[in-house]
This record gives sequence, structure tokens and C-alpha cells, in this order.
Amino acid sequence: MRASDVTLYDDFAAVLLGWYDVHARDLPWRARPGDPPPDPYRVWLSEVMLQQTTVAAVVPYFRRFTHAWPSVADLAAADDGEVMAAWAGLGYYARARNLLACARAVAEGGGAFPDSEGALRQLPGLGAYTAAAVAAIAFGQRAVVVDANVERVVSRLFALAQPLPGARPAIRRLADRITPEARAGDFAQAMMDLGATVCTARSPRCGACPLSRQCAAFAAGSPEAFPVKPARKAKPARTGTAFWIEHDGAVWLVRRAGRGMLGGMRALPDDGWSARCDGAGMVPLAADWQRAGQVSHVFTHFSLALDVLRAKVTAAQPLAEGEWWPIERIEEAGLPTLFAKAARLACAQGDIVT
Ligand code: SF4
Repeated sequence: MRASDVTLYDDFAAVLLGWYDVHARDLPWRARPGDPPPDPYRVWLSEVMLQQTTVAAVVPYFRRFTHAWPSVADLAAADDGEVMAAWAGLGYYARARNLLACARAVAEGGGAFPDSEGALRQLPGLGAYTAAAVAAIAFGQRAVVVDANVERVVSRLFALAQPLPGARPAIRRLADRITPEARAGDFAQAMMDLGATVCTARSPRCGACPLSRQCAAFAAGSPEAFPVKPARKAKPARTGTAFWIEHDGAVWLVRRAGRGMLGGMRALPDDGWSARCDGAGMVPLAADWQRAGQVSHVFTHFSLALDVLRAKVTAAQPLAEGEWWPIERIEEAGLPTLFAKAARLACAQGDIVT
């Protein structure tokens, strides 16, 4: 590194922290710049939630979770089903299972999160990003925190020509160089805020950016060209069928297997579709099946077109496993988004004609 680079990198941090002191977003899991660090439980919970969706979507979930389970000990003692239901709509249910596993590991270890990045990394489900974010934000440790926002900002600041994901090691090295020794937590959050509010994926507001003087992409007149994207691969398109089995104002719901897609969640019975194969198309029982229509859903690695079939039955227990759920309270079943769409479609058809 040249001496002039050191000055440049120090300058990045000083300018950005000055901007953050004025423009930091007010978020329920945050401390204001200069205040004592926030509760590690709240930082960890928010970071796990934020890996999947936007701040606006996370805020109500975060409030509900911290109201129901104000501490990591409360979450550790929570009923699995209640946590899974509260998570519905946040995506990636494996993370909710890891959330519980991590809370229980922390509770068993005395109830305090460890304060180093390395020790945090040993907890169940804590990846490199979350460990670095919690170490920096909750404990003030110098840690290099790189999320999608930071990737974008760094790619633009240095006009990195290499496409993602191959550019990630270079982005990390550059993020490391510009991360200051002091106020590493504020710096991480400042980078996140800059990426979320100024250096946005589309139409970045370079005119309002504190780093525009140092930004190579801005100087080149092409900020939106970074980060350079890899060529797109088409996602596999899968098909499947879900079954709305109705009796006396109730619908039969099953609990999905603990591992795999939407594991542990309540759902409509289906024909066994997965990321790797289409559903078998077999109905689970003999009945007068009527087609309600089709819903589509895009998962990370594939898209699914799900036919929805409806039937009324007289049997008290139509399938070996499951439970009757009152249709008028279907919104409270905690169905994952795919099955909530299927349920809405089935309900929208009105009474099943027998
Ligand atoms: Fe992003 Fe523009 Fe700021 Fe560069 S100048 S960091 S492209 S907002």
C-alpha cells in the first residue's frame, strides 16, 4: 500500500462517519451514533432477519419478536411452532430453526453472546457476515462487515471491473482497507445506510453522496455499471399440486418435515414437489377433486407453478397426519407465503359444489 493510499482510506472513514453522525437511520435495534452499543441480542436478531428482506419489512417482525421474546433467554425457551409461525413471511425457514438453535446455545452458555468475531462464528447458524456485524455493532470490535449494500458501495468506490461473485475476495480486501480501527460498528452501519439510502442499486444519488469526490465509478460517469453482474442463468421451473381438503368449515393442514423446503411449517398437503423434481401429481385420497386454479412462486433456486385442487370429505381423519384448522382463521395458521397464496385462491372460489 502506498502512503497516499493510507491517507485516502483514512479519509473514506472520516468522511463517511461524519455523514453518519447526521444521517444515521433511526431503527429499533440501533443505538444512535455516540451512544453506548445496543443489546447484542437485538443486533443479532435484526441481522438474521435483514439477511432475507428489507428494513421496512423487518421492522414489524422485529417488534413482534422482541415483544414476545424480549431476551435471548426468552427466545431460547420459546415453543418451536410459535417461533416458526411468527417467522412466516420472512422466508428461509432454515434461518428460523437456526435462530432457535443459536438462542439455545447462548442460553446454555450462560445467556451472554461472546464478544469476539471468532467466538460468535462458533454459534449455530452464525455465518461470517452476522458474526462480523454483531462483533462490530454490539461490541465495538474492528470487524470487516460486508453485506450486499457494502459490496455495491465498494464496487463503485473502486470501479471494480471483475463481476460478482468472483469479485468478492477483492471487495473484502478493499472493505478491510477502508474499515477504521475506531468506531468500526458505526462505520459498518454507515456503509449499510449509504448503500440503502444513497448508493442504491438503481439511480444512486451521487449528488447527495459524501464519498462522491473519492468515487471512481462516479468519476467514470457510470455508477450503475457496478457491481458488474455475472451472466444470468435461468432458474428451473417446477410444477406441483396442493390439496385443499375441507370438512365442516375446516381445512386439513399438515406439518412439513423438519428438514428441507419450508421445513417445520404448517402447510396444505401436496404431491411431493421439491427444488429438484416436479410433484408426482397423485391425489392423496379418493374424492370429487375440483381445480381452484394455479399459484406461482419464485424460490431462490427455482420457480414453482402450483395447481390447487379442492374437495369436500366426510372422513374425520382424511390423512394419517395433520389437523383440522378453521377456515375463518386460516390467516392465523402461519402458512408460508406459497401456501397462503394457495389458501387465498381456494377460499376465493366460494363453496365447493358437491
Ligand atoms: Fe455510490 Fe455515487 Fe456515492 Fe459513488 S458517488 S459511492 S456511486 S452514491
